[in-house]
Amino acid sequence: MKYSLYLGRISGIKISVHWTFTLLILWIVISNIRSGLDLTEILWSIGFVLVIFVCVILHELGHALAARQYKIKTRDITILPIGGVAHLESMPEKPKEELVVALAGPLVNVIIAIVLFPFVTITSRMAEIDTLETIGSANFLPALMSINLWLALFNLIPAFPMDGGRVLRALLGFRLPHPKATRIAATIGQVLAIGFVFFGFFAHQPFMIFIGFFIFLGAQQEALYSRSRFVLHGFTVNDVLMPEVPAIPDDLSVKDAASHLLHTQGKNFIVTREGRPIGTLSRNQIIKALAERHDGRPVAEVCDLDVMTLTPDMPLDEAWTLMKQKNKSITLVTAGERIIGVVDEENITELVLIRNASSK
Ligand code: ZN
Repeated sequence: MKYSLYLGRISGIKISVHWTFTLLILWIVISNIRSGLDLTEILWSIGFVLVIFVCVILHELGHALAARQYKIKTRDITILPIGGVAHLESMPEKPKEELVVALAGPLVNVIIAIVLFPFVTITSRMAEIDTLETIGSANFLPALMSINLWLALFNLIPAFPMDGGRVLRALLGFRLPHPKATRIAATIGQVLAIGFVFFGFFAHQPFMIFIGFFIFLGAQQEALYSRSRFVLHGFTVNDVLMPEVPAIPDDLSVKDAASHLLHTQGKNFIVTREGRPIGTLSRNQIIKALAERHDGRPVAEVCDLDVMTLTPDMPLDEAWTLMKQKNKSITLVTAGERIIGVVDEENITELVLIRNASSK
């Protein structure tokens, strides 16, 4: 993820924190100062947030290590102010595997809470654990315990993108085909999300409204993504390969590239220097360059210099996921050293449309 601070690796998994996390710390400091807390109290609050931060990393590691059981690698874990994200290289699609991976995160929080329990009964004054603003030595552990229970509960809300959404889909998936399970889980998630937004409005809880929107978008995205992935399953890159490479030379002007858009079939191009590919140029990049009045500049200056290559036997759903992740509209396809063609986003979209139309 962009704008993240790299912290280190735990069992081979890269751990980063998103810069907006510093805003959270800043917000705590400011709100603490405004409520008249002294330095020790502020340090306790910051310490508390940092410990929660560690709990969130452990939660994500729970997912990552469970996924590893099924030979799924985790590229990285990023911590955001609203929680963590573990980027798995693929998603487990067997219901049992998805269930285990989804439950592993919240389970970590439950275990932390259980471990804290004996200490809490000795030191706690339960009345004090409600507010974050007065964290101190007396209520640190009880508050940490209750936060972990909340984290487990919150993540188990049965809606995408929460873990509970995956749990729900996995449970449905034992009896229903994957796309249908996703559709039902996404619908339940969206109904819940609308409920959250309404409740937030009436109870004057802006945080609930925010969570509602977040869940609504998550559910929509998951339904779309899983539908396309399902449709592409079983195809390979070779099935959408275009043997003719839509090449344009790197010294061509942006204006001439735009006229290629109008007068040829191609929407995305491979930029070449002396016949060798050095970059890619998408329709959006051409339009953006025109809007910025770069008409006369060579395309070499506005193109994407990182050319992605695929092999013809690669599963198409994987290739498509990679293209989405790296934001590529066109990629080269190579067999050994030889370029045998390109894959254009448009061809994949067409395949999805065709399959959708014929499966109805
Ligand atoms: Zn989780």
